[in-house]
Amino acid sequence: MPITLLLFTPGDLRLAENPALDAALRTGHPIVPLFIWPRRAERFERPGAARRWWLHHSLAALDAELQRRGSRLILRVAEDPAEVLIQLLETLPVAALCWNLPLLPHERRLASSIAPVLRRRSIRLIETVGRTLLDLEQLRTKSGDVYRVFTPFWKALRQQYIPPAPFLPPARIPAPSSWPDSDTLESLALLPRPDWASETIASHWLPGEAAAWSTLRTFLAYGLPHYDRARDRLDQEATSKLSPYLANGEISPHLLWRVVGEAQRAGVSSKAVEAFRRQLAWREFGYYLLYHFPETTHRPLRPEWSDFPWRTEAPELEAWQHGRTGIPVIDAAMRQLWQSGWMHNRTRLLVASLLTKNLRIHWLRGAEWFWDTLVDADLANNTLGWQWTAGCGADAAPYFRIFNPVLQSKKFDPEGRYIRRWLPELGRLPAPCIHAPWEAPSCAEMLREIGYPSPIVSLMDSREEALALYENWKASI
Ligand code: FAD
Repeated sequence: MPITLLLFTPGDLRLAENPALDAALRTGHPIVPLFIWPRRAERFERPGAARRWWLHHSLAALDAELQRRGSRLILRVAEDPAEVLIQLLETLPVAALCWNLPLLPHERRLASSIAPVLRRRSIRLIETVGRTLLDLEQLRTKSGDVYRVFTPFWKALRQQYIPPAPFLPPARIPAPSSWPDSDTLESLALLPRPDWASETIASHWLPGEAAAWSTLRTFLAYGLPHYDRARDRLDQEATSKLSPYLANGEISPHLLWRVVGEAQRAGVSSKAVEAFRRQLAWREFGYYLLYHFPETTHRPLRPEWSDFPWRTEAPELEAWQHGRTGIPVIDAAMRQLWQSGWMHNRTRLLVASLLTKNLRIHWLRGAEWFWDTLVDADLANNTLGWQWTAGCGADAAPYFRIFNPVLQSKKFDPEGRYIRRWLPELGRLPAPCIHAPWEAPSCAEMLREIGYPSPIVSLMDSREEALALYENWKASI
């Protein structure tokens, strides 16, 4: 009896609105859902520690959803995922292989390595657009080039994108008469040892498709109506916090696009809806750039930046990682990341600017730290965010635009509530000096008592030095 293999990756762990599942059901064959985990991988080729914790729970939730429908998830741990997939394609009666279009560099290598087997065994390959809104080959400038600037990309996306019809999984998913062997979830060894997660990220998040939908419902009710005005506020819960669900594919970008449109018809302002869709388009732009320039995970998109004199080893890196820079909004953000596996977009910009500009540390050091600590670590968005802030990516913030964390903190966290939440030791500092306590002589005693450090860098001097260095470097290229 021929079967259909349905391959899940860490970026599409859902049943609802999963076009690969829809396509698999349409083949009419029994379906074998499969997930392969590489035992080892190069940097960025498999999720970092925080997202591995998420993945463990997400795979358990996916398997439970499949079991409710008479199916199950087959797990395999492999030295080389291509080898395992080829072996399954060779030994099982596979008529079709369905997956959402592989987008990441290592997934595309996997796709190329199985192509000869698919041809030789006449196995139908069905690739669907499930992780992004559009097929990333589709959007081109009038002259046929790849977009490198966001605004025209966004306009083209706006014009060409038509959300597909909703797809909900059926009550039963046809199962084969016998199942191939499966490894256990525990054998994937995704949970951290020793277990630091239960004290930190586990108390902030619930992975899985059902939790994604309930997060979405909360956002539609309380966040979306004010999204355009409040999304930069650090002291409010104004953004969706859907990023880990999107990164792990537990919710579909098509669904999000559609439901915010429905909210608009029910009375939410078009400004709020457009502002949210624009962020989904930034995500799309990240995937688009990574798809067309896969080397950018390690190299700057603008080649001349390969010679920029970044510092690659610097003692300040550790202070930045552990939230001990002496600049409260930066330290609060880095502690938020460590404690909860997530950070507000505004503070991602601030901490990245401090690292790459005031400290002139290579953006890859920051990208690596985020990769390991974010539950939403996403190769496309992380690469985009770091290169954008460092000034070496597409459509980047010019190098000379250096965020002032103190002014930003005063603007987006005026009472210092965000700082106090994540840096409780500063809780007793009076509001006026919480943003830049080193400037207030009256706080000096208290800071000494608490043991809070002085700033590791002078914001003013380091800004001037970075600008001078940039001018010299630019003149030399
Ligand atoms: P919302 O404001 O509710 O936005 C909805 C969705 O749109 C997000 O979930 C996300 O998928 C997408 N989105 C929003 N802002 C951006 C953006 N600036 N770029 C791309 N997509 C966006 N996002 C990740 O998902 N994973 C990462 O690894 C990641 N690394 C980043 C690194 C840096 C240095 C910077 C500056 C940004 C990074 N971002 C990353 C983008 C952004 O900070 C997060 O997507 C956002 O904070 C997630 O919160 P939210 O879900 O509440 O966002």
